[in-house]
Amino acid sequence: MKNVGFIGWRGMIGSVLIQRMLEEGDFNTINSIFFSTSQCGQKVPFNNKYNNILQDAFNIDLLKELDIIISCQGAGYTSNIYYKLRKCGWDGYWIDSSSFLRMKNDAIIILDPINYNNIKNGLNNGIKTFIGANCVVSLMLMSLGGLFLNNLVEWVSVSTYQAASGAGSNYIRELLLQMGILYDQVSKELFNKPSIILDIEKKITNFMRCDKMLTDAFSVPLACSFIPWIDKETKNGQSFEEWKCQAEINKILLTNNNIIYVDGICVRIASLRCHGQAFTLKLKKNLSLKEIEHIIISNNSWVKLIPNNYKNTIYELTPTAVTGKLTVAIGRLRKLNIGSKYISAFSVGDQLLWGGAEPIRRMLKILLWF
Ligand code: NAP
Repeated sequence: MKNVGFIGWRGMIGSVLIQRMLEEGDFNTINSIFFSTSQCGQKVPFNNKYNNILQDAFNIDLLKELDIIISCQGAGYTSNIYYKLRKCGWDGYWIDSSSFLRMKNDAIIILDPINYNNIKNGLNNGIKTFIGANCVVSLMLMSLGGLFLNNLVEWVSVSTYQAASGAGSNYIRELLLQMGILYDQVSKELFNKPSIILDIEKKITNFMRCDKMLTDAFSVPLACSFIPWIDKETKNGQSFEEWKCQAEINKILLTNNNIIYVDGICVRIASLRCHGQAFTLKLKKNLSLKEIEHIIISNNSWVKLIPNNYKNTIYELTPTAVTGKLTVAIGRLRKLNIGSKYISAFSVGDQLLWGGAEPIRRMLKILLWF
């Protein structure tokens, strides 16, 4: 059995990965060793037949013994450890959820329903580094992959609606605490019928603006608000999250010089889990809506078409409906007034599953079969 080390198993992506692996019985086929950057020496908190004690995630000598390392710890950890390990001769497989190695020439971005052949070719050519895509990118390709793979997309403009958990465990906690704190400010007035609604709103708004509001993680309130910037600044005015969309999609699709333009604005919203994306696409051909729908649903087993009407949309195209499911919902599909090649669409997918943990879990399976 291969020795597989897990780093970052306690975070958002890591814990969903462990949950999925337990569901699928994946731990029966590997010898798993769990690491931590902060809890070394403590007990592994779930059923684990062999190695019950958390190991030091900075112990290069121990990491060197592993056949496969899965890191869901973040870019800081990868940048600190990856090259040290490679420099001392480690030639095992590194699977990662962070962005640090994604665009490197000797790394493949993994999303096997879209680029299985590329992954397989990479393995045959000795590639040892496999990185999950940005969550927005994976969910865009899982929903619209049919149009991309059939070379039908001229460009995409996208506005994202990204859940708090996309930023990590401490952020989703902060959102829930912010919600509780704001509720406490007006709980009495809310149940007092004669109280004036604008006074309630004003009390909340004033509290959100005062220095008593908890904002350690997000820097500003997210509850009752939104934040139209995710990740670092880049030189051309894009956020790094926005930059990743075009760069990673083209790398996954191996478009080389025939770049597909993908750009837009990424927004953090106060939902817990699942990212929504509002798309405007220009297609290369004037296809009927029926043809477009057929191409979309034929691409993979997880994409689910939601009829473009009020009832199906509010019950099936929301984080409430999609959270915890592997299906990626796509709806609001229609031709736009601008012209016959322009369509709109809206997707909702669980960014912790297909947007993070699932491609990593499946990459481990591919490696074990290889
Ligand atoms: P995260 O929840 O912040 O977890 C990362 C690490 O932080 C944990 O493994 C844990 O490490 C430590 N940690 C500190 N406080 C914690 C707490 N209260 N609860 C749990 N863990 C805590 O990060 P993440 O969102 O999973 O992201 C990991 C990487 O995946 C990042 O590079 C991110 O960009 C990428 N990614 C994230 C998503 C997403 O939707 N979140 C999607 C795709 C890719 P120790 O046990 O060693 O202390």
